[in-house]
Amino acid sequence: MIKTTSTSGVGITLENVSKSYNSSAPAAVDNFSMNINPGEFIMLVGPSGCGKTTTMKMINRIIEPTSGKIIIDGQDVLSLNPSFLRRNIGYVIQQIGLFPHMTIAENISVVPNLLGWSKDKTADRVEELLALVELDGGSFARRYPKELSGGQQQRVGVARALAADPPVMLMDEPFGATDPITREKLQLEFLRLQESMHKTIVFVTHDFDEALKLGDRIAVLSAGSQIVQFDTPANILSNPANEYVSSFIGQGAALKSLALIDVAQAKLLPASAATSSPHSVATFDNLRTALDRVVLAGGHPVAVLDEAERVVGAIGIEEISDALGADVRNLSPEKAV
Ligand code: ATP
Repeated sequence: MIKTTSTSGVGITLENVSKSYNSSAPAAVDNFSMNINPGEFIMLVGPSGCGKTTTMKMINRIIEPTSGKIIIDGQDVLSLNPSFLRRNIGYVIQQIGLFPHMTIAENISVVPNLLGWSKDKTADRVEELLALVELDGGSFARRYPKELSGGQQQRVGVARALAADPPVMLMDEPFGATDPITREKLQLEFLRLQESMHKTIVFVTHDFDEALKLGDRIAVLSAGSQIVQFDTPANILSNPANEYVSSFIGQGAALKSLALIDVAQAKLLPASAATSSPHSVATFDNLRTALDRVVLAGGHPVAVLDEAERVVGAIGIEEISDALGADVRNLSPEKAV
């Protein structure tokens, strides 16, 4: 039985999964295997057409693999009935898919209604979710999707997917259609939510920067759904498996140093919101300015972080290393820059 409490994640295993839509075309997904730990936030990054969406749809059983096995919390996904999966797997897509003729409250209530929840329980949950995605007040519940901005609609999409508190979230370029500022806000909000939710998340993106900020681990895929590297953001940054992965990261010391800091910022800010520790947005802004200066002067990442430590006494290299899941002092200059 899939656990339905938000604190206990469930694991997902894909074993030699293939999918052919058409016998005369190459397989959309070819012999794909991956092990996702309970509560892990996994990013799938790869070129268009490499099979990311197909993989998500197979985990969700919207489509079935041609061969191979998908195990969710120890059970073959094909043995689980679709309504059970809808309840236990939240699905967010780029096109949002809100029903235009339904209010925001009705859109969020779709799964609770399918599950036969009482009116009161559903109304309470809608209120709770709107607050969670910062759409409380402003009569959002009674509005129709077209009366919301793209970013607000995307938040409703996230709220709707969270309605039955599923232990697994599949997110297929959920913020892809939003402008960079809204996207960054949604990313930070979602990271903050995940701090308390501990859900098992598979998140597809084209944006490597987004992958670095959000993921516990990133799977870099090549055409033909082959995993080129599957590792933590810090390890991928400091030790890309090959030229192909490097090309995703971008060239140059400054970019990589700043990417490291962006990852640290994304990881530390949610924690600071929860604990009111000193890592305020302003603190990070100061940090970023100081880093920009050192990077512009051609500084090495460790020098950048030393400068950061000097400027912002509250954030030490240890803490940033913790956030990154790697000791930044151990990144060799050749690898790190
Ligand atoms: P993108 O990043 O562009 O969204 P993707 O990595 O998610 O791409 P998929 O959408 O999974 O890739 O598609 C993988 C391959 O399968 C592509 O070659 C695509 O044309 C093909 N494909 C996807 N859906 C179907 C379908 N319903 N029928 C036939 N072929 C399909």
